[in-house]
Amino acid sequence: MSMEDVEIWCDRCDFKSGSGRTFGRYFYELKNGQLVDLNREPGWCYRCENIESIENFSDKDFIKNEIDNNISARQKITTSISFKLFGHQKKHVMQFEEKIVQMNYRLFIHEQRKSLPKCLRCGSTDIISVKIPDPPEGAIEELPIMHLKCGGRLLAKHSDFRVNIILPKLIYTLEGDFIRKETGR
Ligand SMILES: [Zn+2]
Ligand SMILES: [Zn+2]
Repeated sequence: MSMEDVEIWCDRCDFKSGSGRTFGRYFYELKNGQLVDLNREPGWCYRCENIESIENFSDKDFIKNEIDNNISARQKITTSISFKLFGHQKKHVMQFEEKIVQMNYRLFIHEQRKSLPKCLRCGSTDIISVKIPDPPEGAIEELPIMHLKCGGRLLAKHSDFRVNIILPKLIYTLEGDFIRKETGR
């Protein structure tokens, strides 16, 4: 997998960072061992004093829509004559079913979850969502937050190199607490 890193720095002190630290494949692990996609976004963590991946719980409507859409798509096939007679598009039906199961797990996590969204590096809830700028090639863009430590401006530009790695799997409890990291596919 190849991803472009955005460099981030402060114009007043020697702070340097980048979007690369938010890269990874993030999952919750249920008690039965099932891994469920963790919805995240970039943010600023006031404990890490850096750009980190943070949990994002604004996806409830998206999840419900996905469930509805996949149920209708499945039904469209399973009620068709060609499916009933010949089992046509069985593979698609299975794909829709997998998606429905995965989305139901995500909904389950929403319902069980007690704590506020957390920083996925340190677990702090002292965080704020920050959109990482995507300036045109060679241009510099300012982040919507300042560097509190020194009062400087946080700036961003695309870096010259691409990150070409297999992203690690980062695994968390339902409450967003880190359990372990798995490398490899
Ligand atoms: Zn600074
Ligand atoms: Zn943190």
